[in-house]
Amino acid sequence: MTDPTTTLLILGASGDLTRRLLLPGLGTLLRAEPDRTVRVLGADRVELGEQDWQGMVRESLAEAEVPEQVADTVAGDAAYRQTDLLERDQLQALLAAVESPVVLYFALPPAVTVKVCALLEELGVPAGTRLALEKPFGDSLESAQELNRQLLRVVPEGDIFRIDHFLGVNTILNLIGIRFANRLLQPIWSAEHIERVEISYDETLALEGRAGYYDHAGALMDMIQSHLLEILAFFAMEAPATMHAEEIRGLKAQALRATRAWKHDPVQASRRARYTAGEIEGRQIPDYAAEEGVDPERATETLAALTVQLDNARWAGVPFVLRSGKALGEAAKRVVVTFRAPAHVPAGLKDTPAPDRLVLELKPGSVGLELSMNAEGDPFELEQKSLHAELGKPRMLPYGEILGAILDGNPLLTIRGDEAEELWRIVEPVLAAWRADDVPLEEYAAGSDGPDGWE
Ligand code: NDP
Repeated sequence: MTDPTTTLLILGASGDLTRRLLLPGLGTLLRAEPDRTVRVLGADRVELGEQDWQGMVRESLAEAEVPEQVADTVAGDAAYRQTDLLERDQLQALLAAVESPVVLYFALPPAVTVKVCALLEELGVPAGTRLALEKPFGDSLESAQELNRQLLRVVPEGDIFRIDHFLGVNTILNLIGIRFANRLLQPIWSAEHIERVEISYDETLALEGRAGYYDHAGALMDMIQSHLLEILAFFAMEAPATMHAEEIRGLKAQALRATRAWKHDPVQASRRARYTAGEIEGRQIPDYAAEEGVDPERATETLAALTVQLDNARWAGVPFVLRSGKALGEAAKRVVVTFRAPAHVPAGLKDTPAPDRLVLELKPGSVGLELSMNAEGDPFELEQKSLHAELGKPRMLPYGEILGAILDGNPLLTIRGDEAEELWRIVEPVLAAWRADDVPLEEYAAGSDGPDGWE
């Protein structure tokens, strides 16, 4: 369990991820688990006084309402070292000054992370050092394989934590309970009973000044290649015997290995579109192509849909539709399971109004089961009724869950090397089809529900 001496060394301590997600996540972790002790060390090339860094840490902990005494200890113990991490001597001096065991958290631009890893390979790290790596993990199957090989020359796989913060979202972990902890759903979780699955992450947010990152990624890489395929893996994996990390990660990898574009045709299986000017909740949204920092020639999609299938006995023939986009009229962050029609509805009852569905809302979390039942009023008619459960507020932010697991040395909420490669193997044929312009880039007005003709 918790090692009281673990140092969390954040590389890229003055960046956006650290400020907006890591430190607030740490705050909620320490609020939920105030007995945990952790030393927070920051390193970045930016000039920052020790007191400024301590102030940043203190502010995040205060905002999360960490007990004052705990916040004082952690913030008072926090240290900052200005370091150009690409300078071998400076990196070596930084590592020499840190007490083991240490988690090296790469909150750096991806290209810098790769170079720092190459230097670590030369310099070596103390036994037990853990590496925490952010997405994107490579930008192709080949680069992900190369990065995996490189990391394994630094530390063993068990000490590599590839982050996907969606795995810290409690509603996604709920898939395990919903699937395996009750007698009702487990036996019907297969192609025999399920007709279709949709995993959506539609946002009303537009670019919000993130062109530098997003215009190079696009919706497919930003959301589907990582987060939505990971949700699919939790959804579709076989039953684990325990919550042991290696067991769950092995089953997820197995599900991903079976996953391919629908009918093995990446052109027909995928769609892409980009938003034009429009209005969302009273906000005027400019044309994506005209946003500062966007290169329209790059033809980056802001909405992507990909239908995949799992070539295995459990899921043969079931389409899994993954969809994510920005600047849409309505947010839709959910998993929708559509069940097959019953084998026979007694003659004399008027027909089923709609298929039965299970709807797992990711934000805020809830589970709804929409079932056909006798209608109120006329009992010979049928209507859809919903059984609904709200999922309680999470005990901490997703990054809190993930940091806690990394500090405990538990890789359950992170991605294993072979999974990371599978995620690229699945989307690469789609990216190739898009680059070849085999799939048209459609348009939709910001604030609409997507291009005409999309479901
Ligand atoms: P930023 O560019 O905001 O932060 C990176 C930090 O690293 C900057 O302070 C930068 O300094 C510093 N840095 C760059 N090169 C060096 C170097 N040679 N030595 C020391 N410090 C250096 O990036 P983000 O925080 O946005 O992203 C970090 C990682 O997290 C990326 O992999 C990203 O994909 C991932 N991520 C980010 C999310 C977000 O919302 N921001 C969400 C999910 C993942 P300088 O400013 O001087 O360049």
